[in-house]
Amino acid sequence: MNEFELINRYFKRSNTACVDNESTGNRVDVGIGDDCAVVNVAAGEQLALSIDTLVEGIHFPPNANPYDLAQRAFCVCMSDLAAMGAQPLWYTLALTLPEDDATWLDGFSQGMFSIADKYKCHLIGGNTTRGPLSISLQVHGSIPQGQAILRSGAKPGENIFVSGPLGDGAMGLAMIQHRVHVSEEARDYFYSRFYRPEPQVQLGMALRNVASAAIDISDGFLADLKHVCEASGVGAEIELGTLPNSQHRLAEHEFVENENLAGHWQQWMLSGGDDYQLCFTVPSDTDMRSDLLNTCHHVGKITQNPSVVCKLDGQIVEPKKFGYQHF
Ligand code: ADP
Ligand code: MG
Repeated sequence: MNEFELINRYFKRSNTACVDNESTGNRVDVGIGDDCAVVNVAAGEQLALSIDTLVEGIHFPPNANPYDLAQRAFCVCMSDLAAMGAQPLWYTLALTLPEDDATWLDGFSQGMFSIADKYKCHLIGGNTTRGPLSISLQVHGSIPQGQAILRSGAKPGENIFVSGPLGDGAMGLAMIQHRVHVSEEARDYFYSRFYRPEPQVQLGMALRNVASAAIDISDGFLADLKHVCEASGVGAEIELGTLPNSQHRLAEHEFVENENLAGHWQQWMLSGGDDYQLCFTVPSDTDMRSDLLNTCHHVGKITQNPSVVCKLDGQIVEPKKFGYQHF
């Protein structure tokens, strides 16, 4: 199989095979097959762009299932659009592969399209080369002019929310790396949290004109909250007891048998990363009981003092680590 056969066989779909969708499908004039893709951009709209690279052995374990891996690559990238309040439109894919393994490519392309179709996001181009396994995805989304939710908008006195449980990604990774053993039911849940973290696209769009700042939690809750604080020139106070988590999915004995597990949870929630929940702030006069905020968790407040302080029952707690850093 040469490069072009590979692209045609696994990545090029006829236009009708793409999820058809009035808002995005018919905006692609030229998709895969020419030197560039050509798309239509509407007046009054801004494009949000983001790219992510996943490298084998760094971002995912060697010999990961290609179907799961494709889904993870897509979800991770889509999460950045969610954090800005953007609506997904289309994406490009740069693949570096050690070999043209048909079984691997089958699994990978099926995993990718199955998740991308859910978000009505179209593959419009890419690049294919040989080398150590690495996957880069660039996504484009659209935002009404001036409505992007930035990291820099948080102000003292505002409330801080997170969209869902923290620590699931780190727990999933620990389990996949055989550092933790859990029941089959818990295993399915945490496995899918790691490989299919659900990008909060609908929430992000609903937060336009509601949230003053937002970020998606990829490096770790505290590290990402710190990014918001630095960009906004503020600090934060977090009440640790209010952070949502999925510990209840584990049976009591699963903690006891694995002596370190209980101790790890707090750290995973704070700095584990890979959760892809949104962390966002809303002005203090926002209705905290609105349907939108009711689905999220109020975890603290923005402060003038520019540090991130964690409290448990009124006492200050010093976390060991804030989050993951590559360098
Ligand atoms: P060029 O050499 O002009 O950059 P390529 O030969 O690399 O173009 O690619 C041919 C076409 O296939 C282009 O439209 C490109 O966007 C698309 N393409 C290449 N690799 C992929 C991929 N992995 N997924 C989707 N489209 C791809
Ligand atoms: Mg060319």
